[in-house]
Amino acid sequence: MSKNRFDLDPERLATTDEHGNRVYIYPEDVKGKWKDRRTKVYWALIFFYLVLPWIYINEKPALMLNIAKREFSFFGQTLYGVEPILIFLIFISGLFFIAFMTSVFGRVWCGWGCPQTVFIQSIFLKIEALIEGKARARLALEQAPWSITKVLKRVTKWILFTLVSLHIAHTFVGYFVGPRELFLMTTQAPTEHYGVFIAVMILSTIFLLDFGWFREQFCIIACPYGRIQSVMMDENSKVVAYDYNRGEPRKGVSNEKQGDCVTCYQCVKVCPTGIDIRRGTQMECIACTQCIDACDSIMKRLKKPTGLIRYTNEIELKNEAKKKNIRPYFYITISFIFVAAFIYYLNASTKPQLIFLRGIGAPFLASESTITNKFTLKIKHQGSEHYPVTIELSNPQLRESIGIQTSENPIMLNKAEKKIFIFFKFNSNILKSGTIAVKLNLKDTRTGNIVSTKEVTLVGPMD
Ligand code: SF4
Ligand code: SF4
Repeated sequence: MSKNRFDLDPERLATTDEHGNRVYIYPEDVKGKWKDRRTKVYWALIFFYLVLPWIYINEKPALMLNIAKREFSFFGQTLYGVEPILIFLIFISGLFFIAFMTSVFGRVWCGWGCPQTVFIQSIFLKIEALIEGKARARLALEQAPWSITKVLKRVTKWILFTLVSLHIAHTFVGYFVGPRELFLMTTQAPTEHYGVFIAVMILSTIFLLDFGWFREQFCIIACPYGRIQSVMMDENSKVVAYDYNRGEPRKGVSNEKQGDCVTCYQCVKVCPTGIDIRRGTQMECIACTQCIDACDSIMKRLKKPTGLIRYTNEIELKNEAKKKNIRPYFYITISFIFVAAFIYYLNASTKPQLIFLRGIGAPFLASESTITNKFTLKIKHQGSEHYPVTIELSNPQLRESIGIQTSENPIMLNKAEKKIFIFFKFNSNILKSGTIAVKLNLKDTRTGNIVSTKEVTLVGPMD
């Protein structure tokens, strides 16, 4: 039997030739139930990605993380002066959640949710097919000598790729500066918004080169998640796998007995990373399910049951009993712990926090029998609600003895961080050994509710 070009060399990657040069992959189109499902998911994700920043709730984008202003908007709720720890907590929680998903469902993220897969499959490959034709035509064009037609096709394709990349990059930056602001910036000279302009240009170039040219190479050699996902997976994890019990010996291997695999190479031809799934689970597999649909269509034509390639796991393929596996529980527990810490911190940080900084110079001023202590009061307020507050002593008995004056009264909580001056005036006879610690309440003047409490030490002359 003559060697088929899809009979891959087991000694090297499908995307390299014998000299180590890159072999471009032109995956063939496929039809089937998994393709239909993925198409719906991809377009839903693209729709949300493009539309979400343009949905305004309470005058803020539905989702925006303005790093420069430390402002985070999430479906109508806005946090000001966002602490990096909040971003850290939600980021770590997300990582453990992905680890959980990987340990249960394998590389579901790669095949169904990763922007790399979503944009390449839904947009870049579609543009390529529109300009250059089906997989075979694209391969023929690549191998053909340069001609006017080839130049025109390539130039048109890269112009369209560039436009799409620019749009994706602008949307991405819109999540950080706000879409309306970004739109306004695009109508002005780039020199007026150098930082944003450079960010958009760098991102557009990265998207263009990655989605248009680098493609599967990113998944195979550059993606850190792709490198570590095998650590999170085990024989219980769901993977796209070839049922060797049923498929082997495949056609062309044995003359006596033949399994269901007819060695049509359809599963290899449609694979975006160019691998042969019949060689077992491989690092290059992004679980995109293309080979499932391809093989199912062959099985249907041969009037055999579908599922020769399917979502399964090693235990099922080996007909072994299910083993106990605590790994997913571990990942999801850690993820929830970080979410709980995030919620706790978020709640704590939406309450105003009081920081008293003693005034520069002498710790107190004494005139006749009155002592004055001056402080700068910082009020950190991350909540989206703006309201007036007043400060009072929490001990009612001390209210007669200690007078409080603030540079703003009532104080409007309308900024992430508010600074005011606060003066305490009192008679030295309330001091014990020259000091007195007093508790102060920050009170919502609309409702009378105490929204924060803080202790501060007042000082005067020693007896
Ligand atoms: S082997 Fe199948 S599931 Fe894996 S990347 Fe190739 S086509 Fe997708
Ligand atoms: S598509 Fe199915 S039948 Fe064809 S080579 Fe792949 S596993 Fe075998």
